[in-house]
Amino acid sequence: MDFKFSEEHEEFRKKVREFGKKEFTKQRIRDSDINEKYPDELRELTYKNGLVSYDDPWKVLISIEELCSIDPGLGISVTIPYFGAEVIMLFGSDHLKEKYLSRINSGKAIMGLAVTEPSGGSDVAGASTRAEKKDGHYVVNGSKMFISNGNLADFFITLVRTSSKEAKRHHGLSVLVVDTNSKGFSANKLTGKLGVRSTTTSEILFENLEVPEENLVGEEGKGFYYIMTFFNISRIFVAAQGIGVAQGAFDRAMDLVKSRGEEYSSREEVQFALAEMATRIKATRLMTYEAASHLFSYEPIPSLTSMAKQYAGETAVFVTEKALEIAGIDGIDSDLERFFRDAKILEIWEGTSEIEKLIIARNMLKGEKP
Ligand SMILES: Cc1cc2nc3c(=O)[nH]c(=O)nc-3n(C[C@H](O)[C@H](O)[C@H](O)COP(=O)(O)OP(=O)(O)OC[C@H]3O[C@@H](n4cnc5c(N)ncnc54)[C@H](O)[C@@H]3O)c2cc1C
Repeated sequence: MDFKFSEEHEEFRKKVREFGKKEFTKQRIRDSDINEKYPDELRELTYKNGLVSYDDPWKVLISIEELCSIDPGLGISVTIPYFGAEVIMLFGSDHLKEKYLSRINSGKAIMGLAVTEPSGGSDVAGASTRAEKKDGHYVVNGSKMFISNGNLADFFITLVRTSSKEAKRHHGLSVLVVDTNSKGFSANKLTGKLGVRSTTTSEILFENLEVPEENLVGEEGKGFYYIMTFFNISRIFVAAQGIGVAQGAFDRAMDLVKSRGEEYSSREEVQFALAEMATRIKATRLMTYEAASHLFSYEPIPSLTSMAKQYAGETAVFVTEKALEIAGIDGIDSDLERFFRDAKILEIWEGTSEIEKLIIARNMLKGEKP
């Protein structure tokens, strides 16, 4: 058992941190949060500096962790343009890889993943956006809700219902790559979010939108399985967001405690709070890295990945709240106020904490040993 990152990864971590400290300026942070503005120029800069590269998933995890510790909104915004890429990597045809992944890898395009519908996100098998085959196309009708990159993406990995005949609902689902410049596509940006306000979240609509048959990912009827496989991967990156958000809040709380002098830092309740925060962050890190090492060596343990995701989300919420309590009046207009708002989403997307618990228990009941 080796608890150390390689020298290359440590160097990379340093490079990401230096980049974040330099480029995540107060101005950019405030502008994107207050005005709910997606930082496209920063995304390009992050890409140009080679800080988000799918050649090495550990580097993706490190980038997310480090950038979210500097600012969660910007950190997530610059790493989310690739959201859903693994679906094409794992299940897409050579044609789809060439046509879509090459644009993503070169930083020329933004993508997204559209699963959640207005009726709810947890019940993925209940998706009702329809796709009917007609003259070499699928004709798509329906809508998706709370979709990240909704008004920005060039294309979406989209979960659709291609059949209602199957006895089991999830057998009638498929995945299509939908170009957003197609006739019949529209998006309405949702504003006034609690947190991650620099990310763009939208309702997206499909009205008799035609998708060429070759944009079907893998096989018809296997969409549910593809999406579940994807979530078992992407949850590790949400756990990394959680580590970053919690670490960033902890560092700020520690600086504040030290700046208030010895009389304050020796108070028992302050030390209890710091110890509880640090212990949870450490536990989250260990769980996430262990889950990631199984996942990145193609031996995923879904219950362990869900444990990491659930615990990371809850740790981010716990730590940001404690940090804000320590800050007291000093926290109201500090970074901690924003960290506190940004943390909540980590308990929601890619599966709420309740859904993660169901995944953990169900996999363990089937014999999985996390
Ligand atoms: C900012 C933001 C960005 C997002 N980006 C995307 C995106 O890019 N793509 C995408 O597809 N979706 C996205 N989502 C949607 C997100 O994945 C869903 O919000 C999430 O899956 C929960 O779905 P829901 O909000 O519809 O809640 P629901 O599924 O309606 O759940 C409501 C409550 O009921 C609980 N619940 C539901 N089912 C069960 C059950 N079986 N047992 C116990 N409790 C249960 C849940 O835990 C939750 O507390 C985004 C959401 C937000 C807020």
